[in-house]
This record gives sequence, structure tokens and C-alpha cells, in this order.
Amino acid sequence: MEVNILKGPLVDNELFLNLQSLFKGLVTVKSGMKFNFIDPSLEYEEGLDEEEVEELTHKKTIEIEFESTQDGSSFKSLLNMINGIAKDYNIKIKDLNILLTGYKNNRNFLSYCDEDVKNVFIYTRGWDRIYERSIDSVFPIAYEITSWCLRTLMFQSADELDGNVHFKFKGCLNDMCLNITDHIFKSRTGDICKDCLNIARDKAISNKYLKEINRLNDSFAGFIKTREKMISSDEELTLALSPLNNNKVFTIPELGNIVVQLEPLWKAVYLLFILNPKGIVRSKMRHYKKELATYIPLLGLKTKDLDKLKLSIDNTLDSDKNKNLNTLISKINSAFSDVIPGDRAKEFQIIVDEDEKSKVKIRRDCFVNNTNMTLVFSE
Ligand SMILES: [Zn+2]
Repeated sequence: MEVNILKGPLVDNELFLNLQSLFKGLVTVKSGMKFNFIDPSLEYEEGLDEEEVEELTHKKTIEIEFESTQDGSSFKSLLNMINGIAKDYNIKIKDLNILLTGYKNNRNFLSYCDEDVKNVFIYTRGWDRIYERSIDSVFPIAYEITSWCLRTLMFQSADELDGNVHFKFKGCLNDMCLNITDHIFKSRTGDICKDCLNIARDKAISNKYLKEINRLNDSFAGFIKTREKMISSDEELTLALSPLNNNKVFTIPELGNIVVQLEPLWKAVYLLFILNPKGIVRSKMRHYKKELATYIPLLGLKTKDLDKLKLSIDNTLDSDKNKNLNTLISKINSAFSDVIPGDRAKEFQIIVDEDEKSKVKIRRDCFVNNTNMTLVFSE
């Protein structure tokens, strides 16, 4: 079973990246389920100079015409957008095609499907009504993605789906959740009721799909339930450097592979601190220009303009009283605070120690390198 997840208009890059990272860390190849995360604006730019793509990725929005009134878009226009994007951007339609959209719909649904339950939209905003932090909305959206995988296997038509969906709250994946707060209960349990399991059995849904969907939903439920607890406990958190798309990202596996949002230069500076656990005096950072110039392209920046790269490093490290470097380090530190609220962010942040050296105090065995980069730690 292959699923396309399309990044539609008004969907945060951060959310999309985190969903991708979450699925990448969880989905097993042997389940036979494949999730393709597609950012159409990226596909569209293929073939351009790579650096241009990098620049454009942040700027380009999808330009597909569709009707939208003050009350939101009709289901039809949202679902039509899937075929429109697939056609315009040359994307092959799969068993299930999911459009993530930040545009609300005129019936205020979290998600819904077309006649054949093959095309689905999921609304990506509004979860802050039930989850305190926007980062937590990654898990209920992930849950919606896998839930639609099961629904497309269970129901041949939207009518059949409508006939079996539970309008009265049952704590099942097929609860209608007219009240959004009910969604908390189903996504926190990952349960499927007996009636729905019977339908799944009658339709002879492959056991490996069913098992994988259940396992994924249980994992999302686990993250929803334990995230806050992990953060307020002393359970060990690790830091991973992992490949994602053509990029490399720092993630925290225990928190659902959450991606720490860092620009390539910031990542290189951060890596420098990881590789130098004894710390570096900020005014001496300029001695590491060569290392930074090596790391930046390895960490995902596709640039052919090495002079531009050098200039940006010089500009960061040579500023008066380390002003630019200090700013950059505080940006890195706030990126960690964004994903780990409270005191535990400090375990990952760059802090100035008593010996005046700046360092990241994470233990060596808590850092995992999942990339093919050879990393050499200074003793
Ligand atoms: Zn049910």
C-alpha cells in the first residue's frame, strides 16, 4: 500500500518536516506500507540550479486555483486540488492521496474523503484548540493519516463510510468527533472498536497492514501521552543527527523524532560544539572556519558559491565582540527550547561554563550519528 502525502497551501514547513521525520523513524519496510511525503513546490523546481531551489523552497507557494469563500472551501474544491497538483507537478496517484491543507473547509471538518475514499484532505490548523503547543499537533495529524489508511481499506465508498462512522463517541478510530475535544481520547488510545475490527476482518484486510496501522497509532498515542512526562522526568533523551530528504537534521528520537529547526550554518556551529565537548572560547571560534566550511555542505546546504559560504562564516565569526556569533548561538538555543519546553532544553543548549568556555554538555553516548558523515571528536 502506497500513500502520497501532499503539502498543500498554508501548511507549515516545520509541521511537514516533523511528520516526515516521525514516519521515517517508525514505518517498517516489511509492513509493505510506503508513505511518500511530497512538497509539490520542491518537485516543481526540480532541474533548476540547486542553490536556487534552496532559496525558492522557502518562498514559493503552490498556485492552484480553487474556490474559497469566507466560510472556507468546499470539500469538492479541496479534493480536486489533489488531482490538480498531481497533474501540474507530475505526481503519480497512489492507493491513497492525502492533501494537507491550512485552508479551512465550509463544513469545519478535520478531514474527509472523496466518493471512493481514495483522496482525502486533512486540515492542519486548529489543533491548538485541544493541544497546548503547536508542535503537538504533529501527532494527531499523523494519527489522521494512518486512520485514513485503514478507512480506505475498510470502505469502498464515502456512503459506506458514512454508514459505519460513529456519531456517538465510542473511543474508536472511526468516531466522527463532532466535538474536537473527543479527538484527544481516540488519538490518545489508538483504539479500534469491535464493530470496526469485524468490518476489517470481513473485508479481509491484509494482516500486515492492520498490524502496522495499529502499531503506528499506538506509537502516536504513546508520544501524545508521554511527551510531557518525558520532559518533566529524568528519563534519558538522546540527540540524533539523521538524514532527511537531501538534508541532515538534528532530531530527538524519544520525542517522536522531532526536528530541531536549524539553518545549515547554525547546524555546523552546533556540530562543532558537539565534537568539542571540552568547549570553545567564543573569541577563539574563528580558528574553526575551515571545519565549518567543511561541515556546512555536508549538513545539507547545496551551494556552488564557495565565496558566499566563506563570507557568511567570516561575517559570523569576525564581528565586533562576537555579536553575530552570540546572536547565532542564542538562535540555536531557542530552537531547542521550541521543541523541549522547560529546563531540559539546557541539556542540549550551548552554555558558557565556569571556565569561560561555551559547550554542549550532552554525554557522548547520548549522541547518535545516523548519517554517513565521519565525525571526529576532540578529546
Ligand atoms: Zn469503531
